[in-house]
Amino acid sequence: MTDVLKFGGTSVGTAERIRDVARLVGTRGRVEDPCLVVVSAMGGVTDLLVGLKNSSSERKKEAAEAALHEIGARHRVALSGLALSADESRVCAAAIDEEMLRCRELSLGISLLEEISPRTSDALLAIGELISSRLVAAALRARGTDAVWVDPREMLATDATHGAALADEPETARRFAARVLPELAAGRVVVTGGFVGAAPSGATTTLGRGGSDYSAALFGAALKDAGRVVSAIEIWTDVDGILTADPRIVPQARLVPEVSAAEAAELAFFGAKVLHPATIRPAVARGIPVVVRNSFRPDGAGTIVRRDAAGTGVRAIAMRKGVTALFVGSPRMLLAYGYAAKVFSVFERHRVSVDVIATSEVSISITVDEKAALDGVVRDLSEFAEVSLLEHLAVVSVVGRNLRSTAGIAVRVFAALGDVNVVLVSQGASDTNMTFVVAEGDAPEALLRLHKEFFE
Ligand code: ASP
Ligand code: MG
Repeated sequence: MTDVLKFGGTSVGTAERIRDVARLVGTRGRVEDPCLVVVSAMGGVTDLLVGLKNSSSERKKEAAEAALHEIGARHRVALSGLALSADESRVCAAAIDEEMLRCRELSLGISLLEEISPRTSDALLAIGELISSRLVAAALRARGTDAVWVDPREMLATDATHGAALADEPETARRFAARVLPELAAGRVVVTGGFVGAAPSGATTTLGRGGSDYSAALFGAALKDAGRVVSAIEIWTDVDGILTADPRIVPQARLVPEVSAAEAAELAFFGAKVLHPATIRPAVARGIPVVVRNSFRPDGAGTIVRRDAAGTGVRAIAMRKGVTALFVGSPRMLLAYGYAAKVFSVFERHRVSVDVIATSEVSISITVDEKAALDGVVRDLSEFAEVSLLEHLAVVSVVGRNLRSTAGIAVRVFAALGDVNVVLVSQGASDTNMTFVVAEGDAPEALLRLHKEFFE
């Protein structure tokens, strides 16, 4: 049996935090059940690498030097704080030197060409994970845990879409069977970097920013496909899990112990920055639970995301600000077929994605992100309809399970809202949310009232 444990950038951000991770990993499970540990780059390092890449291509030599210096220093300082044996320390220092040399060469190459190919970009961005994961493996061995570092490029097979590579899941499972299972069977904890994989040519690829969660899910899936029992994928981060509401607005917010994948997806869309739903799909599809836990408070139970979570009813209240509504009306078009298609084709043409939609006989209300470029949309819509805009709105969503079939949810929502003015409502489009739009200024009050109604 294997757990996959993924630690994000803040969880491995300093030597002290890396030692905490080593303690956490080292004290759990039995030797017969070693875990697979996936780590992000040390917090801020990927951003530094992106900065280095940009200054290199713009030939900003000083900025590039400064970035190179800082990236090297972050890792060397961490290494010296890990209290490794002399041998281990030497090996790690050599690995850092080697990666930093490569980093410098890539930076130089980019500045000579004054351009960055996606392939070069990936080779550069991968360096954070390639170093951080080696440090974690060494820290584990320093406290007596039998741990082995495996290069993520030996594990994760991807296509050649640099910067946003897609996994080749069957090939990844084959590599796991050959490279990873023997280590686990020998009782060794396997440590690797997230975010990084290899194209069929062997070239380094990355999964896109924040991609380490996706790596963790893919690795859990590959273990399972290769025949291992995977009990859970734990995403160790700096929040307790998914909460019933944003605690900055609703101080009474509390932890949600369990959510379904669909609910997690809704909440992610509303900026609960905890988990991106697409990233955990490989795990969810195989019925492997994904648990979000706080590495600063390891005793907390966290939130479990399951394909089929238990319970029904309201699970959380979410809100997203910065929304504009367009009201598109046309009395002449009353009941005309093809009208809605015509309206939405305008949004498509201008590549503006729409969010909440509500319709009546003679009008369609549509919300979009306030940053969307609307001039062209309004101009084109005005050719056949009357258009008005309402800005500074917020979308509020009551997220839960079987909402459509649970009698009385809407009544409770509107009773709780009381005199908070609702600009538009979309209900029943999904069984997992009931969504409405209010003025941005009213949103905190709406959240507080709904939270009180459903959770207090
Ligand atoms: N280090 C990468 C990033 O910062 C991947 C990750 O942390 O998930 O985007
Ligand atoms: Mg992350």
